[in-house]
Amino acid sequence: MSQAVCILGATGSIGQSTLKILQQHPEAYSVFAVTAQSRITELAEICQQYRPKVAVVPANKVDELSQLLQVQGLSDIEILQDEAGLISVAEHPGVDIVMAAIVGAAGLLSTLAAVKAGKRVLLANKEALVMSGDIMMQAARDYGALLLPVDSEHNAIFQCLPQNYFDAERNGQPKLGVHQILLTASGGPFLNYSLEQLHDVTPAQACKHPNWSMGQKISVDSATLMNKGLELIEACHLFAVQEQFVTVVVHPQSIIHSMVQYVDGSTLAQMGNPDMGTPIAHALAWPQRISTHIPALDLFKHSQLNFQEPDVVRFPALKLARQAMKSGGIAPTILNAANEIAVAAFLNQQIRFTQIPQVVETVLNQMDNQPAHDLDTILHADHTARGLSQQYVVNKGS
Ligand code: NAD
Ligand code: MG
Repeated sequence: MSQAVCILGATGSIGQSTLKILQQHPEAYSVFAVTAQSRITELAEICQQYRPKVAVVPANKVDELSQLLQVQGLSDIEILQDEAGLISVAEHPGVDIVMAAIVGAAGLLSTLAAVKAGKRVLLANKEALVMSGDIMMQAARDYGALLLPVDSEHNAIFQCLPQNYFDAERNGQPKLGVHQILLTASGGPFLNYSLEQLHDVTPAQACKHPNWSMGQKISVDSATLMNKGLELIEACHLFAVQEQFVTVVVHPQSIIHSMVQYVDGSTLAQMGNPDMGTPIAHALAWPQRISTHIPALDLFKHSQLNFQEPDVVRFPALKLARQAMKSGGIAPTILNAANEIAVAAFLNQQIRFTQIPQVVETVLNQMDNQPAHDLDTILHADHTARGLSQQYVVNKGS
């Protein structure tokens, strides 16, 4: 029987890659719901092609979508709105699989709703897990959700871990012979830039990733290495290890997507062409495998695979994220919120590239840490950190 998929963030880079995989397996999957914040014409085109039962948009876009669907003879597609609409499709009884591909904190509540409804949740929206860490992981266990990593590195690690890894006790130590996790990073477009050069980079340069085609926010995160910082936190939660067991390795070719080292000296790596279709297909079908349009890796074309240590002087975001994970509590929530505001301000040309980690560090220092006991504490910390970050942008912006 075919499985019904809800795509949160269908118009985005991950959303589109997901649709492309689903299109190749129409007998196995159907699209139940799609959501978008903007680009409503594109959402209507997706509706035309995939015929979902429900589409979710912000309240002020409902008329626009409704008119477009009417012209296409698709008035039977139900339109829901805002956060309530996102939550409603994420937890809908008719949905088997939820692709969580909204960018940033905006995806937290709908992703959590899918987890609490016990769905198979394909997690691309790393910010949601960074913010809510233990709460989301506990909810997955309590409600029997299957949380599968789509982020290419975490999907690679998942593939390299022993199958019964997730049945073992969660005590912050690697287990079942695992020694450490090697999280690979491309290093982004500015890997070899000096601090002086970093000072003057533009949003257009930052959004041009050498290996991956992605949304703007994650592209900037990749350029600052904050993406790797968020992924370090993501890995600690998904694989239940303390931060000292995750080592970041810069690997500019993005062919090895991450590795697991074992106590006997073995290192297992997952490799592939840098295309998100592979981890998406893996998470959709696991423990089975499904075919994709992505060609097999041609190793004769990749005669060089290089590795180096990350430079936390030029890329301090990575250090800040590691420290936030070590501190625990609401520190990762603050880090994420400040980064979201700082990245938006950089894209708006209100602050310089090198000010992004400065906003994050300043706001982390301004706020007292406290345990992240519940969702309200997390949402409150997120709100406060955003306000402080905005103040920084207004006062210190160039
Ligand atoms: P994107 O900007 O291309 O797409 C974001 C999607 O979320 C769009 O559909 C947009 O309409 C929707 N959205 C944006 N703001 C929203 C809001 N306030 N409320 C509801 N919906 C909103 O982003 P992307 O590159 O597809 O990334 C999505 C997520 O996946 C991010 O968390 C990112 O870190 C993660 N991720 C992306 C990639 C990649 O290759 N693009 C790889 C790994 C992880
Ligand atoms: Mg990644």
